[in-house]
Amino acid sequence: MRIAVYSSRSYDVRFLTEANEDHGHDLHFLEARLNADTASLAEGHDVVCPFVNDTVDAEVIDQLADLGVGLLALRSAGFNHVDLDHAHARGLTVSRVPAYSPYAVAEHTVGMMLAVERRLHRAYNRVRDGNFSLDGLLGFDLRNKRVGIIGTGRIGQIVARIMRAFGCSIRAYDVVQNDEVRDYGVRYVDLDTLFADCDIITLHCPLTPDTHHLINAENIAKMRDGVMIVNTSRGPLIDTPAVIDGLKSGKIGNLAIDVYEEEGDLFFEDLSDKVITDDVFSRLLTFPNVLITAHQAFFTQEAMSNIAHTTLDNIAAFASGGRSGNELTPEAVKGQ
Ligand code: NAD
Repeated sequence: MRIAVYSSRSYDVRFLTEANEDHGHDLHFLEARLNADTASLAEGHDVVCPFVNDTVDAEVIDQLADLGVGLLALRSAGFNHVDLDHAHARGLTVSRVPAYSPYAVAEHTVGMMLAVERRLHRAYNRVRDGNFSLDGLLGFDLRNKRVGIIGTGRIGQIVARIMRAFGCSIRAYDVVQNDEVRDYGVRYVDLDTLFADCDIITLHCPLTPDTHHLINAENIAKMRDGVMIVNTSRGPLIDTPAVIDGLKSGKIGNLAIDVYEEEGDLFFEDLSDKVITDDVFSRLLTFPNVLITAHQAFFTQEAMSNIAHTTLDNIAAFASGGRSGNELTPEAVKGQ
């Protein structure tokens, strides 16, 4: 199979090339992001392999289908960036990597909680600058805090277990409740109760029309004063200007985000020589109680290796006319 790997970085080249020793596919690494201007680069390829901030809308899908591409092999779990209905209407198969290391994302989530509330990001810079003052670094114990987990799927469940070990009590909200999660002491509540009861709220649900801007002004008003909000799921779960208002008023005491609703213009690029023109993002950077990472929660050696192997297995199944079980159909997605 000839495969166009869009948004390729050095680490994609490394892990996909290593995994390809088992397959022998013809991998063509492209630094460009996939969009209507770059879709033509897929000419002569059977498979297109996009990443999370690539554009896979109807216009791009039409171009790829016209070029004879048969498979969109997503190297991600999330698929909110793909117009699945249109892909299927045009006869394209879409596969993804449903689970590669939920531990990677869960552990990063907990790392962000600890870092932001103990102000480790500030302490690191201070000590390097010879400033050993503790003013402004006051944190709180996690023990006995209430943690609200929205979405108790693969990642949310692991976060729940880790936070239990810190001595937190866990509330959860999910559209599908899981008895196994209850068994390790998690109490399912409705969303309003979770908002009202929890000191820390962490998001692990997918981005859907129902969850878009779940964290908005109305819901922030229901939360405890000084609440911590953590988002390692998808940026548009949060209405960023509403969160900025919450930070300014002190309603939100800590914010830790690995994803941002307009991240497509920023993340995965080195923009250190450029002017950041996104004023909302720039405002977020000014708060001492905000920690931002650039969509790196998945980025462990184990996860990258699993992503590469599963992506190439998905492609091998397509090449042989079979199925890997990781194909996305609009019906299956609606039934989730
Ligand atoms: P999952 O499918 O295992 O779990 C998602 C859970 O959310 C399910 O239990 C589902 O029932 C629940 N859910 C669906 N709609 C909901 C709603 N309206 N309200 C509350 N809960 C709802 O997914 P996962 O593997 O745990 O991943 C969770 C999210 O993490 C993904 O959707 C993805 O966007 C994100 N993610 C981020 C990174 C990163 O690097 N930052 C990496 C992988 C995944």
